[in-house]
Amino acid sequence: MTAESVDLLVIGGGITGAGIARDAAMRGMRTALVDKDDFGSGTSSRSSRLVHGGLRYLETGDLKLVFEASRERRVLLNIAPHLVWPRSFIFPVHSGSRVPRWKLSAGLWLYDALALFRNVKRHESLSKKALLRAEPAIRSNDLSGGARYWDAQCDDVRLVLGNVRDAYRHGAYPANYVRVDAFERVDGRVTGARMTDRLTGETLTVHAHVVVNATGPWSDALRQDGTRLLHPTKGVHVLVPRARLGNHEAVTLTSPIDGRVMFILPWSHDLSYIGTTDTECDESPDDLRATADDVIYLLRSANAFYPSARLQPDDVISAWAGLRPLLRPRDPTEPGKVSREHQIVEHDGLLSIVGGKLTTYRVMAEQMVNRVAEHLRALDGRDPFPPCRTAEEPLPGGEARDLAVLIDALTEEGTDRALAEHLVRSYGGEAPAVARLAESDPALGARITPQHPALRAELIHAIRREMALTLTDLLLRRTHVFLETPGHGLKQAPEIVDLIADELGWDAARKASELAAYLQEVERHESFRTELAARA
Ligand code: FAD
Repeated sequence: MTAESVDLLVIGGGITGAGIARDAAMRGMRTALVDKDDFGSGTSSRSSRLVHGGLRYLETGDLKLVFEASRERRVLLNIAPHLVWPRSFIFPVHSGSRVPRWKLSAGLWLYDALALFRNVKRHESLSKKALLRAEPAIRSNDLSGGARYWDAQCDDVRLVLGNVRDAYRHGAYPANYVRVDAFERVDGRVTGARMTDRLTGETLTVHAHVVVNATGPWSDALRQDGTRLLHPTKGVHVLVPRARLGNHEAVTLTSPIDGRVMFILPWSHDLSYIGTTDTECDESPDDLRATADDVIYLLRSANAFYPSARLQPDDVISAWAGLRPLLRPRDPTEPGKVSREHQIVEHDGLLSIVGGKLTTYRVMAEQMVNRVAEHLRALDGRDPFPPCRTAEEPLPGGEARDLAVLIDALTEEGTDRALAEHLVRSYGGEAPAVARLAESDPALGARITPQHPALRAELIHAIRREMALTLTDLLLRRTHVFLETPGHGLKQAPEIVDLIADELGWDAARKASELAAYLQEVERHESFRTELAARA
């Protein structure tokens, strides 16, 4: 067992913890960040992937949240243009719809105003004819028109990785697969944590002036102080071929089943995803999976808007489920009033951050690091820490604002255009390094699977630069082969394991256990199909 000492220990490497570690390291705090699994493996890789003002929060009067989220959307589009990009949304209105056209129009004016009219573009009203020109396959029966408005879409898990990597670049110590088992205390006050490296079994104690609990839906379980701050709800998405659904842009719809606002979103490689459900859930975040009912709800809602699609469960390439770490409502009799806001609470010196959204992670982190700075100064009278710089400094790969220039440059050097686009959208300014790696060895220049553009070179890059430690890290979170490929790359998995074994120092036993763990992950994601088959 070894012991280390830091200013700040951040527990939880989702977007919240990664954002806090980056901010703290940039301000000069000696910072450690640990996650019991992979970075981003919790809620932060299972979102709707929207960096959005939150149009539907206008209905609940959360204007402050919309204002803050709209500002953050602008910031993230600037600091990580490869990971956060503008997306236009079509909002169709059918007669009898819960949101009539006048209400939509008023809401969109307010939405643009709360973004200080600095959103990517202003919204526009669409006649029935114009709407059908934009989305020809949408149900025309009873359609009265609608609108187009703008938000942003992101690669949620790569945004987490970008923050972890930048934290490391600024001197932080990030470690995945390190689980906090218990807190160290002096006179009841939390002064560190005992941990286990889940890959080696080694134990470790980290002493810290300040400990932050950023474990999202695990937050109540980790704190164990008898209070419940969370009111988690489960959300599921399904990914389908875009040609089967027939959408052109992103579409905001109100589900005909229960009137909830949902989205159909285009994704790379001719795919679209549909989401999300929103159901009360007291399952452990560790056991979460999409059920047959979740999948059917999403397909029925999409089919009601795209009647000729007639999507069936067989069309689903993959499904993912996440648990929203929402704040418990003040009035438990009104669960609908669950807020997307966040809160920082302190107990025995442990600072916990609960609630919030992916979109607002940066400002949540800034507030938390301000609190940590106050604590550190009070403890040992240090000089004031510099102010937060995370809104100005680009994330790794985000230095070049104009992605088209990067794509052109790669193409001129001989990279196929579609591949150049894929690499630049994944790695931004670091794309040429990945392209060079691919050129260095024909085995690395090959695709991971024939159906997906990701290259084998990306696996090596992920091991060397992005702290990937397992086969699942590589295929599920560093590349998106797992979710975006029918069959999830299972067929290629054995040759992939052989390819990367030397890089990761794996022996035959480890190779076998990695393949078994990957298969288990696939079966967990696919369990809705077994459920559906049993019902048939
Ligand atoms: P997590 O990402 O869950 O991270 C917590 C981490 O703590 C995990 O990685 C876990 O492994 C680790 N951990 C737990 N216990 C321990 C321990 N003992 N030791 C070490 N580590 C531990 N927000 C948006 O802005 N836009 C959206 O489009 C959007 N869509 C969403 C859709 C769905 C279905 C869901 C569920 C959420 C959505 N959200 C969205 C909300 C957003 O995804 C979450 O608010 C955010 O990802 C939470 O991040 P986090 O870091 O707090 O939690």
